[in-house]
Amino acid sequence: MGTNFYLRSGQHIGKRSAIGYYCWNCRIQCNGEKCPNCGKTFKGNVMTEGAVAVELGFAKPNTQSERNVVRRVSSFTWDMDPKLQLPSAIVDGYGKTYSIKEFKEQVLANCPIQIFTEIGRNFT
Ligand SMILES: [Zn+2]
Repeated sequence: MGTNFYLRSGQHIGKRSAIGYYCWNCRIQCNGEKCPNCGKTFKGNVMTEGAVAVELGFAKPNTQSERNVVRRVSSFTWDMDPKLQLPSAIVDGYGKTYSIKEFKEQVLANCPIQIFTEIGRNFT
């Protein structure tokens, strides 16, 4: 399960994948609903919020103000080098278009784990 993102030209930017629980307070991944460091627990509804719901299209990605707790999040695996300037428009695998601002706020903001080891591999 995951969502691919592309430039308008069709070049692959990267892929978002749901990875499970993450504590925004401690900025660590959790094995379960409870953060092993601060003890905060996931209180949301899996089907209406968090990365899995976002992937399934049920929920909007989290906003900054809601992030200080344990949530389900995604990773983002870069295919394109993010240090290169991103273009003004990005399209996901479902045909939805994002401005770079929307991409950062709606996609990357919910991906605390970013993976840079696959850059240039043109994976899918
Ligand atoms: Zn924590």
